[in-house]
Amino acid sequence: MEFISLGRDNDIGASCHYLRVGNVGITLDAGADPNEEGPRSLPDFTPILNRRVDHVMITHAHHDHIGGLPAVNANWPMARLHLTHASKTLTTLMLYASARLQRRKFYEGSSPYRPLFEDEDLDDIFDMYHSHDFNQRINLGSGGTHAEFIYSGHLLGAAGVLLTTDDNRKVFYTSDTRSEDQTIIPGGQYPSSPVDVLIMESTLGADPVAEQVTRSEEEIRFAERLKAVLDRGGSVLIPVFMLGRAQEILALLGRFKAKKLIDPETPIYSAGGLREVSKIYDDYRESSPRIDPDFRVYSVEQRRFPRTHKARARALNQPGIHVLASGMMIENTLSHLIAMELLEHEQHAIFFVGFAKDDLPAGRLIHAAQSGAEGIILDSRRGMQTINCEVDRFRFSGHAHRRELLEIASGLAPSTIILVHGQTEAKRWLKEALYKECPNAQILTPSQGELVKV
Ligand SMILES: [Zn+2]
Ligand SMILES: [Zn+2]
Repeated sequence: MEFISLGRDNDIGASCHYLRVGNVGITLDAGADPNEEGPRSLPDFTPILNRRVDHVMITHAHHDHIGGLPAVNANWPMARLHLTHASKTLTTLMLYASARLQRRKFYEGSSPYRPLFEDEDLDDIFDMYHSHDFNQRINLGSGGTHAEFIYSGHLLGAAGVLLTTDDNRKVFYTSDTRSEDQTIIPGGQYPSSPVDVLIMESTLGADPVAEQVTRSEEEIRFAERLKAVLDRGGSVLIPVFMLGRAQEILALLGRFKAKKLIDPETPIYSAGGLREVSKIYDDYRESSPRIDPDFRVYSVEQRRFPRTHKARARALNQPGIHVLASGMMIENTLSHLIAMELLEHEQHAIFFVGFAKDDLPAGRLIHAAQSGAEGIILDSRRGMQTINCEVDRFRFSGHAHRRELLEIASGLAPSTIILVHGQTEAKRWLKEALYKECPNAQILTPSQGELVKV
């Protein structure tokens, strides 16, 4: 078996890995780097341009796993694209939204790059999708190589991939995974018997705090902090990823209201694409794993975040909760704009609930607040702003913390572990820890484009 990682090896970046099993060429995911634009955001396909890609296994609909799909389809138009039913619906929504955003940025002049794909390209791909149930056998070649999607717990539709080769070796790709329950989405599942090769995500490998907090303690702390801000008349901004984190947080806020941990009359605002995603979450509530199939995201009363300046000022000047994308507060997104409105006022709060990269505005603000810095520049046009509002971070990630990852690895007893999808520091910590946890395994952290033979 041959393995080549095509995304950057020192960061989360674009998730895309090539596998050759017998004479079958497979890519696991086809992502794009959400922090880059234009061709730089794509995986580097150079090492596989002369190879066949027969199948693309898409694990879930986050941009870092699907944003390069049109490029893969353009290079290998005959490749079959496999994903779960819910992922197909979400991927369609997310890719058209991405095309819209790229068009807008280019024509507004905020990005020098022409869109990587247009709606017509996506219309073509649509016919290439093969959607599957979890645990359904997917034949990948005449020699008996087959795969199945195993429910991974990360978000709606998300799956790991268990591959069985024609000589009966097992390869498991965790993709993004969480083994513990969230609010809507129950914890993930893993193969029931050992595997030969484990390809594992490393997102939280360098986060020592996530493993120390329990979800129930964190929920109580979150409810208490929300109540304190609302009681003093403040507004709370919760920056979220529109797919996954947004729906989980809305569900949690609904639960807090039902238990009267916060005032049930508190207005909750949401906006844009995350509202469409919430509808899809509700549509799949009976046909995808759920903690409570009766729960609907839209049963949590939400107002649309106002569009005009005047109405926004009115909404922010009274107690309320604003659940807005993007999660990492990327420049010019709603959460970035509203953070700048709240930052200098001590009655308000900005609460982070997901993964935050150090070099993006969310990570920079968390770091500045924790280190006691007086100010931060979120936008050079606005200049230095004093941090007077409350800034805090709560651990509700859809990713397994690093102890969870070690448990998943030791449970599968692989002879080879390939670490992917994480910053260098995260992979380094996991590699060290895995030497102890899985002493018989060979542990690899391949560079981008490096050919690994297993
Ligand atoms: Zn993800
Ligand atoms: Zn990811």
